[in-house]
Amino acid sequence: MRIESTSHPLAPPIGISTVYCLADLDHVDALYDGAAKGFIYARDAHPNAGQLAEKMSRLEGGEAGLVCASGMGAIASVFLSLLSQNDHALISEGVYGKTSSLVSRQLTRWGITHDVFDPANAGAIKPHLNAKTRMIFVETISNPLLRVADLDSLAAIAREAGIPLVVDNTFAPLICRPIERGASLVVHSVTKMIGGHSDLTLGVVVGARRMVEQIQTLASTLGQTGNPFESWLALRGLATLSLRMDRACASALALARQFEAHGQVGRVLYPGLPSHRDHLLASRLLTDGFGAMVTIDMGDRATAESFMRALPSIPFAPSLGDVQTTLSHPATTSHRGQDDAQLARQGITAGMIRLSVGLEDPDDLWREFRQALDASSPSRRPEGT
Ligand code: PLP
Repeated sequence: MRIESTSHPLAPPIGISTVYCLADLDHVDALYDGAAKGFIYARDAHPNAGQLAEKMSRLEGGEAGLVCASGMGAIASVFLSLLSQNDHALISEGVYGKTSSLVSRQLTRWGITHDVFDPANAGAIKPHLNAKTRMIFVETISNPLLRVADLDSLAAIAREAGIPLVVDNTFAPLICRPIERGASLVVHSVTKMIGGHSDLTLGVVVGARRMVEQIQTLASTLGQTGNPFESWLALRGLATLSLRMDRACASALALARQFEAHGQVGRVLYPGLPSHRDHLLASRLLTDGFGAMVTIDMGDRATAESFMRALPSIPFAPSLGDVQTTLSHPATTSHRGQDDAQLARQGITAGMIRLSVGLEDPDDLWREFRQALDASSPSRRPEGT
C-alpha cells in the first residue's frame, strides 16, 4: 500500500524491499536497457546504496560508485574484475592482511601472480612491470607503519603502461583524493572512518562509470553488494565525516608530538612528524591533515601489554575509525599468522601499538596515555617482571 504525501521526509527512508513491482514487460525492458530509472532486485541495486554511491563518488571525484558488502568485498570485486587467468599485479608493501591473503593465497589458484613494491619509491616498481601486468594496487597510508604512497609518480607509471592504478584510501578519506592525482579507481572500507561508529560493515568502489559498471556486474554475481540498512547508516556517518576527520587528525598530531617528546616510547610513527620516513611525501600528498592513526613502539610485548592494561577508558578493539579512540596490537591481530621473520622484514615489532584516534578531548586523552606510560615504565614494574 502506498501512502500519498505532498511533503517528503528530511531524513532518507530505509528501503528494505528485496524486489520492486513492475508495470509491464515494456517497463522491465526499459529498466534493464537504462531507458527508465528504477530498481528491480536489491542485490543488483537499491535506493540506499544508490544514495551512498553517489555521495562517495562526489567525495572522491569519480563518475560512479558501487557499494559492496565489505571493504574486502570491494577489493575482491576489483581484483576479480580487472584480472584474468595468468595476469600479474603490483601490490604495495604492507597492505591489509586479507588483501595480502587474497593475492598470495587465493588469486594464485588462477595463476595470477604479483610482486610487492615500496609505495614511497615508485621508481622501484619499473623492473617488475611486464607484459602481463594488469594493475597497480596501493594503500594511501599503510598499517601499522603508516607508510605513504607516492600516488603522483605511480599514476604516471600506470598511465604510461596503460594499466589502472587502484588506491585503497581507507586511512585517508577527505585528506587525499587519489582520482585527482591520476588513480583510476578508489576503494574504501566504509566500515572504518566513513561509517565512523563501528556499527556497519561495507565497502565502496569509485571511478570511471564504465569500469564501475563492469565491477558491479561481477559484485552482483558474487553476491558482494551492500545492504540497505548499513548503506543508510553509512550515509548518516558520511554527514559528519569532515568534522570527525578534522578533529581526529588534529588530536592525532598533538598526541604523536606528545608521545615523541615523552621519552618513554621507543618510537613514534606518524606521517605528520618530521621524523617519519615519508614526512615530505605526506606533506605534499595529504592536504588536510595526516590521518587519525598513530603507531607507538613500546619495545617488547610485555611492556606493550602493561601499557594497554593501564588504559581503562581506551579499548583494545582491533579495527579503526570509530568516534572513540581504540587500540590495536598489529603483531597479534591484523598481522597475526605472519612469522617473526616476515614481521621483522616489514619492521613490525611485538611492542607496537596502533592507535585510532577518536573525538575525545585531546587533553583528556593525553592525560590517560601519560598516566599509563608512567605506570608501565619498566622502572615502576616489580623486579623480575
Ligand atoms: N582496507 C584496509 C586498509 C583495511 O584496514 C581493512 C580492514 O581493516 C580493509 C580494507 C577491509 O575492510 P572490511 O573489514 O570492511 O572488509
